[in-house]
Parts: sequence; C-alpha cells; structure tokens
Amino acid sequence: MAKFVVTPSNEDQRAAWAGGTIPEVERVRPGLWSVPVPIPVNPLRYVLVYALEVDDGVVIVDAGWNTDEAYDALVAGLGVAGYAITDVRAVLVTHIHPDHYGLAGRIREMSGAWIGLHPADASLVHERYDESAIESLVSKERALLDRCGVPAQTLDELAGASMMIRHMVSMAKPDRLIEDGDRLDLPGWDLRAIWTPGHSPGHLCFVSPSRKLLFSGDHVLAKITPMVAVHPQSAPNPLADYLDALAAVRELDVEEVLPAHEYRFLELRERADYVIAHHGERLAEIERVVAASDGVTCWEVATKLTWSRPWESIPPFMRRAANNETLAHLVWLESRGRVRRVPGDRDLWITPQAGA
Ligand SMILES: [Zn+2]
Ligand SMILES: [Zn+2]
Repeated sequence: MAKFVVTPSNEDQRAAWAGGTIPEVERVRPGLWSVPVPIPVNPLRYVLVYALEVDDGVVIVDAGWNTDEAYDALVAGLGVAGYAITDVRAVLVTHIHPDHYGLAGRIREMSGAWIGLHPADASLVHERYDESAIESLVSKERALLDRCGVPAQTLDELAGASMMIRHMVSMAKPDRLIEDGDRLDLPGWDLRAIWTPGHSPGHLCFVSPSRKLLFSGDHVLAKITPMVAVHPQSAPNPLADYLDALAAVRELDVEEVLPAHEYRFLELRERADYVIAHHGERLAEIERVVAASDGVTCWEVATKLTWSRPWESIPPFMRRAANNETLAHLVWLESRGRVRRVPGDRDLWITPQAGA
C-alpha cells in the first residue's frame, strides 16, 4: 500500500515531534492556542491541549495526564496565551484515556470549569478509576485473554498490565454529557460535537464549520493509527464503529486537523482513507492466517502477524494490546461472515467453509 504522508500545518511542530522534543506553545489562529502537555513514560510524549478563547476566559479541549509536571506545563502554557488556570471555563474531553481526562478534575477544582464527556465514556469512569472496582475489571480482562488463548504463565502479567497508571487520573465525574451533534454554546465559536466511537466507546471530535477546523482527539492522527481493541470496556465490535466513524468524518469540510498527539496537518480526507485502507490490509492478513490453519486462537493469530518489531521483543503490555487489536479485527471479520468463531474455553477461529 502506497504510504500517504500528510502535510504538517507547522513544520516546526512536526520537527519537534520527529526530533523527540516537545513543541512550542503556539497561537494556531486568532483566539486559538496549542499547548503541549507532557505525558510521562509514554512514546507519545505529550498531549496537545487546545485553548479556545471565549468572552470571559478559555475553554480547553482535553486536559493532560494527572501529574504535577503536566499541570505545571498547562499552567505555563496558558500563561503564554495570557490566561491563568482560573480562567478555564470548560474542559471538553475527547475521551476517557488518562492522557486526555486525567487532569480534568484538578482543573475543575482550581477554576470551577465544567467537564464535558460523551455518555458512553462517562459510564466507564467508575469501573475504570475507582479503587473498589479494579479487581472486577482485572478479572474480566483475565477471562478475555484466557479465551483468546494467552499462555497461562503470562496471563496475570498481561491482565494487570495497565493498572499501574490508574493513579494518574483523578476520579472526576463529568458535569455535562455531550452527545453526537450537540452544539457547544461557546461565545465566538460554532463548535459541534461528533461522536466517533472505536478508539474508546464515547470518543468525541469537535468541528468548527466556520473555521473549517477539526479537533480530532485520537480518532485521526498524522502518523499513528489509534488503537482499536476489544477489551472489557469496549463496544462489542469497536472496529466496525471506528471505520464507520472515519467514513463519516472524512466527509466534513475541514481544512486543518488538530489532533491530540504528534502534530497538526491539512488532509483529513486522504488521511482517513489511508487509515481505512490500512485496516483493510490488516483484515486481509488476518483472514489469510485463519485460512492457513485448522483453527487458531486469537493469540496465535497475533503472534503470526507483522508488527513494527519481532513478536519476541514486544513487551507484555504491548502484547496484550496486540492481542486485543487482533481480536477487534477477528470480530469484524466474523460480523461480515469472513471467519467463524468456534466457542470454547479457548475460542478457535476458522474459515466459514471449514468444519460445517
Ligand atoms: Zn486514547
Ligand atoms: Zn491519546
């Protein structure tokens, strides 16, 4: 597949990404700022928080991770734009992941801002971040991995793989639920929410039709394709949701994409098409692995796919992600009748013609 390379809006920002540093705080347009907020121990390195000027302060899109370093960077960045943390009126959160939602509660404490989130992600807050619910979430993940055929000796390690980052999120409940198509009543802005499930069940993008801007969160990014995986908190067929949401977003009349990571870029439609085609290739690859077997587990399929590095050198938490992404593709293929699941203690995947 021919690689499609997007055009960065700002070459300095792209160069910072490529050079492994953090880009500058930047005035993107009159009344609109980009504030990079560092993420600890993560190859993404930073989340891009956008500050939209309104009559009496700013509204921010996404918040950053719940660490002092992130908080200080946000405060300093808003300072460059001429605002204090107490000037934040609202936090529009694209989705529940800790690099986006983590700081929201602390910002609200400092400023009285309201926090907006889609109901599908709002309903996950308790189970995901409340200490009392951790056990049940880990055991659900363990059961899922077991049915995928993850070897017994690595099951516990994989099941608990992301639990150490939970404290990076404060257990803030959103104040407002934002639904698909909602118009955000922000002075000077014609912002509309678009529900784009897949990467998370309640992922939101925000479009400004008059400025032809799309705040894309993790839904569409310049280089990486966001993880779309089956896990205990995902929708049943998240890849179908994701591809549908990409197909819808590509129709928007947008001149610039403002993602939450990497850098801003120009070509929404071409990038969406590329990502759709990428998943099409992945689906075909997985279909071939299933066809070449007499029945394989999801885990076995995952180990046979091409990844960015050899399977043996992929660390445990990324193997879990790889497994769960593979499962998302298998479920999608199953929904189209291209593979069949033979349920059992460990589900086996076969071609539709096999068995009978
Ligand atoms: Zn995310
Ligand atoms: Zn993210």
